[in-house]
Amino acid sequence: MRSTHDTSYKTTCSYCGVGCGIVIRKDRKNNLVLEGNPDHPVNKGMLCSKGMNLHYAMQDMSDRLLFPEMRWSRNHPLQRVSWSDAMKRAAAVFSAMIKTYGPDSVGFYVSGQCLTEEYYVANKLVKGFLGTNNIDTNSRLCMSSAVAGYAQMLGEDAVPVAYEDIELSDCFLIAGANPAWCHPILFRRIEAHKQKNPEVKLIVVDPRRTQTCALADLHLQINPGTDIYLYNAIVRVLIENGEVDYNFVRGHTEQFEQYRDSVFQHTVEEAAEKCDVSIHDIQLAASYIAAAKGFLTLWAMGLNQSAIGVKKNHALISLNLVTGHIGKPGSGPFSLTGQPNAMGGREVGGLATMLAAHRSLANAQHREEVAKFWGVDSISSRPGYTATQMIEALERGELKALWIICTNPLVSWPDARRAEAALANAKFVVVQDISRRSDTLQFADLILPAAGHFEKEGTMTNSERRITHLDKIVDPPGEALPDAEILCRFAKAMGFKGFDYTSVEEIYAEHCRLTKGTNIDISGLSYARLRAEGSMQWPVPEATHSGTTRLFADHAFYTPSRKAKFYPIDAENLSAVPTPELPLILTTGRIRDQWHTMTKTGKVNRLRQHIDKPFLEIHPDDAAARNIGEDDVVVIRNEQGDVRVRARISAEIKRGVVFLPMHWGRMLMKDAARANNLTTMLVDPVSKEPDFKFSRVEVELY
Ligand code: SF4
Repeated sequence: MRSTHDTSYKTTCSYCGVGCGIVIRKDRKNNLVLEGNPDHPVNKGMLCSKGMNLHYAMQDMSDRLLFPEMRWSRNHPLQRVSWSDAMKRAAAVFSAMIKTYGPDSVGFYVSGQCLTEEYYVANKLVKGFLGTNNIDTNSRLCMSSAVAGYAQMLGEDAVPVAYEDIELSDCFLIAGANPAWCHPILFRRIEAHKQKNPEVKLIVVDPRRTQTCALADLHLQINPGTDIYLYNAIVRVLIENGEVDYNFVRGHTEQFEQYRDSVFQHTVEEAAEKCDVSIHDIQLAASYIAAAKGFLTLWAMGLNQSAIGVKKNHALISLNLVTGHIGKPGSGPFSLTGQPNAMGGREVGGLATMLAAHRSLANAQHREEVAKFWGVDSISSRPGYTATQMIEALERGELKALWIICTNPLVSWPDARRAEAALANAKFVVVQDISRRSDTLQFADLILPAAGHFEKEGTMTNSERRITHLDKIVDPPGEALPDAEILCRFAKAMGFKGFDYTSVEEIYAEHCRLTKGTNIDISGLSYARLRAEGSMQWPVPEATHSGTTRLFADHAFYTPSRKAKFYPIDAENLSAVPTPELPLILTTGRIRDQWHTMTKTGKVNRLRQHIDKPFLEIHPDDAAARNIGEDDVVVIRNEQGDVRVRARISAEIKRGVVFLPMHWGRMLMKDAARANNLTTMLVDPVSKEPDFKFSRVEVELY
């Protein structure tokens, strides 16, 4: 919201899903001065290193794309063209592809960094007007297992809790996440709460002893892929000790017996051995949870990016259900979104398997409702290609034209060399981005310069369902345009009606109307309210409603029976099993001061001070067995490819496991350090989220 002072603006951080509020002022020379918004309920003025330095990344214009560029074939150089010519060419190619090969020959790949209004227009354009559901997002790579877990167990992709539950909880279980580095402001709130209340317990589950573990009362350093054995064993102890909330389980859940039978398939001793943790520590974790009045489970990619990611979500959410810790203060399951607007994208149906306002693509009535609303005859019932299915469809030549917005799949897709070959096979690639540093540009037949953060208006939804309005603060450079405007221009060039918006506020209002009557109803939350009253958590169904802090306070879930549903859970991991030739397990992840593929954070000197080079973290015993010393150059290899970086020897990682940061791509390091050279196309069978956290590898001296 714009403040009363005409050079002061309100926005949010464009990095992680914590969604910290930011105030920007312009000094006399028109430079941007940035600080945390003291009135924003999420961060109360605090910012982490990435957020504090966001304005440096956004004011550095050295790499910005300034005008559309086009080439007639891959043998021709890219040449500057007008917006009008760019749109005509895009429309001509997409029309020809659809006419010749059908609507499923084209697709869009978008991003959890897009604003909700941009996501909405893209989804309407593709599903409503191009006639295909081939629009997926990079949220597929991070949150889709949590989406499926919530939807199956609670009846809706709905995070039940709020950040204010942190201060009301007395036991936290953080699994497969390192919020001290990746969600720092959220973690600072946990830290401050624990400092004030030393009896508060923190359990961390992670094969690495990360910065988050420094605060933990108990670190369960499990073998990768064994999470379900651990959570099931904790539940078994709770059941055997009579610590289950049977009033809640009998009154508000179903299928508990089947779930309990699956939990009893393994003894606590077997689980301890599988996980490589002690029986005592499993019992201790159970005792902390049993004693808690408020119990929060928090998780991120360590659970989601797995061949059994949805089952891991089932297992963790079950911990909240058996103890009745959901829908009450300080309690509930809380997935941490990695991107600033992963949640907003889900709201508008920005996944290949969803429809707007969390409607289901598989539901004929839902398709009809949305088609009628958009004024089109019908919406295809065929699910679109998910991210990895896009790679396969490109390889087969079935997906011919791909439009990529605000994401850099050449670095972030799994099995990167295979993904690269697949992109090279496309007939036509559009890259809509802000930066020349995107590796994916090398495959672009058409480059469209987009406006960046601060350069456009819109909304984002953070991890706790909180919608915040973002002011436009500065004009975009050159001929760059907001993503929503680019998409509307393309739609009009295609001859489609329904894209004559005069402002992004109109797009937002249309999206709000489409949510009316759904579980994510925000028909009562206008731009005027967001500007005047600040951010709010959905649902906000009336103009007098002030938002919903916590879901399921009445224990009525969104399933048809209104009961939460347990699932029997098979604990076995489905990842490729290590062999004598490839005996180590590679896990990939983030470092504190970098973001995704570094097209923004990589430009900021201050952020490079923390860690400026890629590295392989390896246990001293594994290093010694291979004659590897600190800072030696090593090669990590497997069936997919190889990576060459320096070794960082650390007893903080589990023996048999190695860690590579995910940030460095081809443009920065040729492709020597691209972690996804080593990951595979294996995905969770339900969520289609890749198994980024478990690849078998061998490491040797270079
Ligand atoms: Fe930005 Fe996340 Fe840091 Fe907040 S915690 S400032 S949202 S990166």
